[in-house]
Amino acid sequence: MTAATEAAVKLGVLGAAGRMGRAVVQAATEAGHPIVAAVDHGDALGRDVGQWAGLDPIGVPIVEDLEALAAADVVVDFSLPGVAKKLFERAAGWKTAVVTGTTGFDSTEAHDRLAEKVALVAAANFSQGVTLLVHLCAMVTDKMGPSFDPEIVELHHRRKVDAPSGTALAMAEAVRSVREARPLHGRSGVVGARTDDEIGVLAVRGGDVVGEHTLYLLGEGERLELTHRATDRMIFARGAVRAAAWVLGRPPGNYGMVDVMGLNL
Ligand code: NAD
Repeated sequence: MTAATEAAVKLGVLGAAGRMGRAVVQAATEAGHPIVAAVDHGDALGRDVGQWAGLDPIGVPIVEDLEALAAADVVVDFSLPGVAKKLFERAAGWKTAVVTGTTGFDSTEAHDRLAEKVALVAAANFSQGVTLLVHLCAMVTDKMGPSFDPEIVELHHRRKVDAPSGTALAMAEAVRSVREARPLHGRSGVVGARTDDEIGVLAVRGGDVVGEHTLYLLGEGERLELTHRATDRMIFARGAVRAAAWVLGRPPGNYGMVDVMGLNL
């Protein structure tokens, strides 16, 4: 643990009553960072945010007014793009750092505007393991050299509607940063021998698999497999809380989990 992550950071949570919001409250409590404000709407209003997350009460009610988040050192947001944009506008004025995992924005404009004023950590996947895996995809493909064929396989539960996963696509992009090749999302029939300019990116669906991603590097007489297995959404919350501890006191800028983990060298 670095000195920066040891200091307690006063956290505000937007989307506090949601699945990720509750996980963030749990992860923050686990890491010793106090929650000073919790914002959401609907049924959870007025409820103690600790209790709502399944913990002991912490004396912080869930409120609707975004202004409550001004009391925080860092605001952690897992909500919806509409309300997240409102937060970004307010946080620019408060000069409060933001960690956001909300997805589904139609552009990064709102993020870019906020990052001119404050330190922002935005990531579509806050898992520390996935962040490192994506980074390793480029490094390992590069080091193994052109005689090894990269292929990516991902597994998810049967309810997932998109394929391949965003993480598998990010892995393929990382491979493509060091190898000229195009992603191929399936093989069927007489497709011919594998060529050097393809990367299979293949999706398996079924059961309750939270998420599993493997990069294969297939060579003559040996193969390397790099696998990440997710079993719990707490991994995203722990990553976001780590980002919140890291971002406090940083100059304005648009940071990612690679910066938080010191991988952006
Ligand atoms: P969720 O629906 O359980 O939670 C979202 C919360 O936002 C809800 O409690 C909802 O009431 C609240 N909210 C919506 N509009 C609001 C408003 N106007 N004012 C106040 N609160 C409002 O969803 P979730 O599973 O927690 O996911 C939230 C977001 O985080 C999604 O965009 C999801 O894709 C994203 N996510 C990101 C990561 C990551 O690692 N980056 C991981 C998981 C989920």
